[in-house]
Amino acid sequence: MKLYPLFADLSQRAVLVVGGGAVAERKIQALLAAQAVVTVNAVELTGQLQRWVAEGRIAQRREAFRDDWLDRVWLVVAATSDREVNRQVAAAAMQRRIFANVVDDAALSSFHVPAVIDRAPLTIAISSGGDAPMLARLLRERLESLLDHSLGTLATLAAKLRKRIRVRFVDMAARRRFYESLFAGPVATLLRQGRPDEALAAAERALAAAPTESAGSVVLVGAGPGDPGLLTLRALRALNEADVILHDRLVSAEVLDLARGDAERIEVGKQAGHHHTTQDGIHVLMLEHARAGRRVVRLKGGDPFVFGRGGEELEFLRAHKIPYEVVPGITAAVACAAYAGIPLTHRDHAQSVRFVTAHGQASRDTLDWHALAQERQTLAVYMGVAGLAELQQRLIEHGRAPSTPFALIENGSRAEQRVITGTLANLAEGAAMHAVRSPALLILGEVAALATSLAWFGAPPVGAAMHAIRAPASRQPERDDAPARAGLLTAIHRASR
Ligand code: SAH
Repeated sequence: MKLYPLFADLSQRAVLVVGGGAVAERKIQALLAAQAVVTVNAVELTGQLQRWVAEGRIAQRREAFRDDWLDRVWLVVAATSDREVNRQVAAAAMQRRIFANVVDDAALSSFHVPAVIDRAPLTIAISSGGDAPMLARLLRERLESLLDHSLGTLATLAAKLRKRIRVRFVDMAARRRFYESLFAGPVATLLRQGRPDEALAAAERALAAAPTESAGSVVLVGAGPGDPGLLTLRALRALNEADVILHDRLVSAEVLDLARGDAERIEVGKQAGHHHTTQDGIHVLMLEHARAGRRVVRLKGGDPFVFGRGGEELEFLRAHKIPYEVVPGITAAVACAAYAGIPLTHRDHAQSVRFVTAHGQASRDTLDWHALAQERQTLAVYMGVAGLAELQQRLIEHGRAPSTPFALIENGSRAEQRVITGTLANLAEGAAMHAVRSPALLILGEVAALATSLAWFGAPPVGAAMHAIRAPASRQPERDDAPARAGLLTAIHRASR
């Protein structure tokens, strides 16, 4: 069940709790903490509830529950062990359109009470929609230990200064930056150490000294190949601090989801054939946003300095005196190799690895094919699938053995990853047969053959043609060979036509 979370202001508002046992007591305690006006409906009460009644903190009704009581309350909680009564309360609430919580009965409840981490005035609430309350509780315990108890006092201190902060920092970005330094810097440390007066003094000093205009900047961030687990901690921080994110198409949605919610996201993606924003357009966007004082994250697939035109972007920023940083990312070759079980170097097979781009005719024409055709090296080729036939032909012409193994990795590290294996002789044919699409990376060299035995992620590798599948002996026995067999059947079918 997908619930809509909300925090209710129950101060001075009437709430009815039906039931007087331990569960009712816990609910009432929380309601009193929120300053609700609570009536408990039960004959028998726990000792604590009796005391609260005696002290006048809550009222008691002893008679049997009556529907029309709900005409005067904002919320009702049914915490009796009598299912019939609980049902009656829920039905009466439903009729009046007021929210009812029936303890331990998600189906009868129109609101749930979350597991709470209380750092008043900060409240963190967790719900599993009633499906996995145990998981919610475990998560709460974890967060409890993670979040220092001084968080509440920090929030109170921030509230005290809030008006002055607003007056001093008209510029939103500068204001946000001041808050960030307040929450992460020495003020927070002093509070953790239980020195609230010194913390307040330090906050006041910081407020007087902080720059009121924010200086914009650009962080060039490598987003990795798609799996958000492959982001660096620094990349994550940059995403959390960003005002604007200029991202390529290649950047996965899962990675973008980790960025600050209210950061403006602008896709400046380039895909083979479809140029959304020109390189100059990207430069202008970076400049405009940085000059407006924003923190710009220029987010690129893989690593920004590997076939990412990151160099050009920095040259432009330098020329325009915009401060910048670079956060490396895991480049496609490294990620695809890892996720396909292909070691890029291997004592027996390859002493070196080359990252090559074969995007477009121009880049293929200037490649040193002789060097690329050398034995005992691995080629990791970043490219559109279109150039494969030419690559195959030129490498063979320059002496690379047609029997050299390859692996084509499509959507490396993502849930939909596919790996096609074969030999140089059937590279283009294999890619076409399996309709390989961008983004795909080619690994060529003896090491590529290891994908068949070392694969661990996603669907098992599929042979591009017959001889690549003829030796399934090295395959892990538990691996499902069906996709490879399907490939084999297609190949046989084609050959026999
Ligand atoms: N800067 C990027 C590369 C940009 S060039 C990096 O370091 O990875 C774009 C090419 O990278 C694509 O054509 C494809 O060959 C490769 N690529 C990027 N992500 C990929 C992925 N998840 N799986 C396979 N190849 C990928």
